[in-house]
Amino acid sequence: QAQTKQVYSIASIPADGIGPEVVEAAIVVLKAIAKKRGTFQLEFTNFDWSSDRYKKTGSYVPKGHLDTLRQFDAILFGAVGAPDVPDHISLWGLRLAICQPLQQYANVRRTRVLPGTNSPLANCKPGQLDWVIVRENSEGEYAGHGGRSHTGYDHEVATEISIFTRTGVRRIARFAFQLAQSRPRRKLTYVTKSNAQRNGMVMWDEVINEVAQDFPDVELDHMLVDAMTVRMVLHPESLDTIVATNLHADILSDLAAALAGSIGIAPTANLDPSRKNPSMFEPIHGSAFDITGKGIANPVATFWTASEMLEWLGEKEAADQLMAAVEAVCVDGVKTRDLGGSANTKEVTDAVVAKIMQC
Ligand code: ATP
Ligand code: MG
Repeated sequence: QAQTKQVYSIASIPADGIGPEVVEAAIVVLKAIAKKRGTFQLEFTNFDWSSDRYKKTGSYVPKGHLDTLRQFDAILFGAVGAPDVPDHISLWGLRLAICQPLQQYANVRRTRVLPGTNSPLANCKPGQLDWVIVRENSEGEYAGHGGRSHTGYDHEVATEISIFTRTGVRRIARFAFQLAQSRPRRKLTYVTKSNAQRNGMVMWDEVINEVAQDFPDVELDHMLVDAMTVRMVLHPESLDTIVATNLHADILSDLAAALAGSIGIAPTANLDPSRKNPSMFEPIHGSAFDITGKGIANPVATFWTASEMLEWLGEKEAADQLMAAVEAVCVDGVKTRDLGGSANTKEVTDAVVAKIMQC
C-alpha cells in the first residue's frame, strides 16, 4: 500500500530572520498531518538561499535556480530581509527572483479573524471579517522599470514606471472572479485609483468590467484605494473578495492582517494558476529581526500558508484538518504574544501537532 501513496516534493527556502523558525515549525506540522492521514507523503529539500549567502557570495541564489525549483511541486518560503542589506536588494535578489520568472502572477492573501483571537476593531468579531485579497503579482508598480539620471545633482531625475498590460490585467481579473464565484457570498470588490491615474488604472476599470460579463452571478463593486482603507476599518463585514494592483494590494493586505489581529497570522500564496510552474507559499510578515532567535515568533501565518499549499496540491481535507487544528489551539488560548498570549513558537507548534493527532 505504501507504494500507492502520493509523494509531493517541496522546496523549502527559510531564508532570513524568523523565516527559519517558522518554516521549521511548519514542516513539523506538515509532517504530522501527512502521518495522521497516511494517504500522502511530503519530501522536503532545504535551500540556504538567504541574505547570509548574499553577503558571502554576492548572490542570493545559485545559477540555474529556476530550473532547480521547477523540479518541485511547491515552494515553502520563510522571509527575506536583513538589517545590513538594503531592502530593495534582498527583495529583488530572492523573492521577486522567484515569483516573477515563475509566473506566479496571482498572490492570494486570506484574512480572517480566527476563533479565539481578537480584532483591534471593536465592531469586528470572528466571522465578520473574512476576506481574500487577490494581488496582481507580476507587473504594475513593481515591474522594475524606471531609472535615474544626473545622480546626486539637484536636477537628478528618477522614474518608477508602472507597467500594466491588458493580458496581465485580464488574467488576474479572471482569477479573482473565479475565486469570488467559489466563495459563498460571490462578491468581488475591485480597487483602483482611476480618478487620479488616468492610463493604467482606467484600463484596469475597463478590463474588469469586460471580464465581469462572463461572471453575471458575481456581485461587483468598485472602490478607490484611499476610500477602501476607510471601508475596511468601518465596514469590514461589507467586503469579501478583493482584487487590486501589486502596490495597492500590498498595502491593503498589511492593513487587513493588522485588522484581523496580527501580521503574525497572515498567509500568502504566490500562484501560477496555469500550474506550469510550482507555486510559492509564505507568511506575509517579514524577517522580524527584533524577535529573531528568541523562539517567540508566531508560526500561525506559516501554518495557514502550509494549509493553502496542501489545498493547492489537491489535499483539501488535510488542508482543512490542519486549519481546524490551528483554530482549536487558538481557542484553547495557546497563542504567542502578538495575539495576547504567552506561548512560544514551540509550544504553539506542539499544541497544533497534538490537536492533529487527536482528531
Ligand atoms: P518586510 O519589509 O520584510 O515586510 P517589515 O520591516 O515590514 O518586514 P516585519 O518583519 O514584517 O517587518 O515585522 C513587523 C513587526 O511585526 C515587527 O515588530 C515584528 O516583530 C512583528 N512580527 C512580524 N512577524 C511576526 C510573527 N510571526 N510573530 C510575531 N511578531 C511578528
Ligand atoms: Mg512589511
